[in-house]
Amino acid sequence: MNTRTPLFYFIELYDHFYQAVWPLIIIQDFPSSLCVKAMIEPAYKDLRPGISMDESIESPIDVRRYVTVETRRRLHQNAFRELVIHAYDEHCAICNLHHPGLLDAAHIIGDLEDEGIPIINNGLSLCKIHHAAYDQNFIGIDQDYLVHVRGDILEERDGPMLKHGLQELEGWNIRTPQKRSEKPDPDRLALRFRDFLSA
Ligand SMILES: [Zn+2]
Repeated sequence: MNTRTPLFYFIELYDHFYQAVWPLIIIQDFPSSLCVKAMIEPAYKDLRPGISMDESIESPIDVRRYVTVETRRRLHQNAFRELVIHAYDEHCAICNLHHPGLLDAAHIIGDLEDEGIPIINNGLSLCKIHHAAYDQNFIGIDQDYLVHVRGDILEERDGPMLKHGLQELEGWNIRTPQKRSEKPDPDRLALRFRDFLSA
């Protein structure tokens, strides 16, 4: 604390898998409870190229607060991605594709709690194409975990991507996580499915 030495902080997302936060400095010590209070140090600006001391952010305290909020948001998004994809054992819930680099964590209902605890059962591990198709209501997933393809998409004629990647998914059962608490929430799916039906 006295030397303001920058530190790394590792948050465990799941078994031995950590997310790093840096640089942190210790700003307060609570020896009786063996705790410290830490803060993200924005002085190390090379790590945050977007931050500058412009007129909208007047004092270093504001910069610090801004960086802290930004970092928490980013951590939340990263944690959501890692936890959701891990819950599906790194597979697309729809087509089973097993390439983490091609997977996203899709929200069933848009994320209102940017900084809260990521809710895995509001997520689906989807490959890039199925994430975009789900977001744009090309496909819907009902509360019984069945895939539906929009009527006009079913009638189109095109190449193999449309045929095998979308049309043949009609009526498929999605893959869900082993743990009950991580399975997609049927209420959220139902709410979202209404959007799909009206698309
Ligand atoms: Zn997929």
